[in-house]
Amino acid sequence: MLAPLAVPVPEHLTPHDLVTYFRCPHEMELVRAMHTQRSTGTMGPVRTPLDVVPLHQSPLFSPPLSQILVNEGRLDIFDDDRLVYEDDGEDDLPVLFPPEHVQIDPKFTNGHSTLVDAAWGFAGRPDLVVRRGDGGLFPVEYKETHLFGGYHQAHGRLFDTIQAIAECRLVEVTFGRRPAFGVVLYGDESGGGVHEGWVQIPYGDAEERWLKVAMDQVRQDRIRAPVAALRTCGSCEPNGEGQCRFAAARYEGPHHHQSFLASPRR
Ligand code: SF4
Repeated sequence: MLAPLAVPVPEHLTPHDLVTYFRCPHEMELVRAMHTQRSTGTMGPVRTPLDVVPLHQSPLFSPPLSQILVNEGRLDIFDDDRLVYEDDGEDDLPVLFPPEHVQIDPKFTNGHSTLVDAAWGFAGRPDLVVRRGDGGLFPVEYKETHLFGGYHQAHGRLFDTIQAIAECRLVEVTFGRRPAFGVVLYGDESGGGVHEGWVQIPYGDAEERWLKVAMDQVRQDRIRAPVAALRTCGSCEPNGEGQCRFAAARYEGPHHHQSFLASPRR
């Protein structure tokens, strides 16, 4: 009798992996290897071969962008909205709800706050999930240090869009209802709120298809080539740690993408 064939387990991915891959596949490898080093003391494996030919641009194509709504000012919160999830690993999230409007879903009241999509081998943590009065849900990703002014000019907005789409999928799987959109909320702690704004990113069939294809592409990529470019290399944290041999620029600071290394959210 033939032994049953083992089904290969797909490579585990997170929204942050997708964002990092979109910037530079080699950066994704280095970020993961450095996370392993932080927990085990030994740098994790990096699959990029030493003789790889760097790319000029990301190998991942952009998600659909035509329906994105950009809004200045505070995020609209209505009286019958409820906060049903909050990432308990984050201590700098804005307080958008009075205590009586916080109704954390029982799935997340036992110290467990990672949203897991077992079917797609995907997991991560939005900052917040809001339930509307009609039962509709949407995730909120908060970018504390990303000023809203110059939304369309600033580098990194596309990465935020990818993160919002990925979090919509996790909310759908976890709560059993597809969000119609995800929100990226841009704060402005230093400027008194003058630059606040938020972006509504739709989540429909086109976005879900994009996400699935993107995850397949990441998993099939055996090279994880570097995309060496002045702007991305200048804000690449593995570069700041001296880990990248392909860097096109000196590390200047995190700029407009959040720190993946400082955050435990995976
Ligand atoms: S320094 Fe540049 S090439 Fe190297 S991992 Fe970072 S973004 Fe990629």
